[in-house]
Amino acid sequence: MNNIKLASLQHKNRTTVQVGSVTFGRDMVVIAGPCSVESEEQTCKIAQAVKRAGANMLRGGAFKPRTSPYNFQGLGLKGLKILERARRDTGLPVVSEVLDTRDVSWMCEYVDVLQIGARNMQNFSLLKEVGKTDRPVLLKRGMYSTIAEWLNCAEYILNEGNPRVILCERGIRTFETYTRNTLDLSAVSALKELTHLPIIVDPAHGTGKVSLIPAMSLAAVAAGADGLIIEVHNNPKVALSDKDQALTPRQFSLMTKKVRALRSFMEGIH
Ligand code: PEP
Ligand code: MN
Repeated sequence: MNNIKLASLQHKNRTTVQVGSVTFGRDMVVIAGPCSVESEEQTCKIAQAVKRAGANMLRGGAFKPRTSPYNFQGLGLKGLKILERARRDTGLPVVSEVLDTRDVSWMCEYVDVLQIGARNMQNFSLLKEVGKTDRPVLLKRGMYSTIAEWLNCAEYILNEGNPRVILCERGIRTFETYTRNTLDLSAVSALKELTHLPIIVDPAHGTGKVSLIPAMSLAAVAAGADGLIIEVHNNPKVALSDKDQALTPRQFSLMTKKVRALRSFMEGIH
């Protein structure tokens, strides 16, 4: 990987990215929340529930990249204001996706972490734009991307002067159709030997199935992931996006206990 200079582990210490009171690359970061911000009531309810269950960061999409233009596109600015309110209520830092270069600078006033979604991983103008900010960037893996292509995208952000990049494995497209994507957990371990950047895992988009999320979360921890990002909804049946992969707060709470127990167990063995 000749072109990977700034992101390469060679001759560098591992990067930690502090967001509020949590630190990627040191703490086990559990980000949870709805796929989409749908209403103030829904988001604030979910935020309180995930906080009680042990999440240390809140997710929620205000701008949604949807396959069809006729599907719910997100609440935009209104959604970001709702997230701001949920952050005030719970103290949880907020991560939300930015879709457009024109939204980067003003969105920084509302979110603690800017998410670059899978569909935009190679949107080089967007990468350069977030690279000019001082906000941490959660860079999701493109669904057709190799590890080398992904690291080159991290390189774009780092090269603009923003060192606070967190990678997120979220599954890739394969011939398998039972799962929504194929969660590539070998990428987590591979990245640990290639880059100093923290890496988290999204088993919700990675599998598309509630029943598989707890096991894949534990597997991610075992593979060395620095955190998880999980979709949680107070009433998944009526969620406006990704309802088949949203855990209930109860399911999330049970899963988080196991995740934290496994992580403590692993930290106890040297
Ligand atoms: C999301 O996090 O809601 C999302 C759209 O993820 P991805 O870009 O990985 O599909
Ligand atoms: Mn989603």
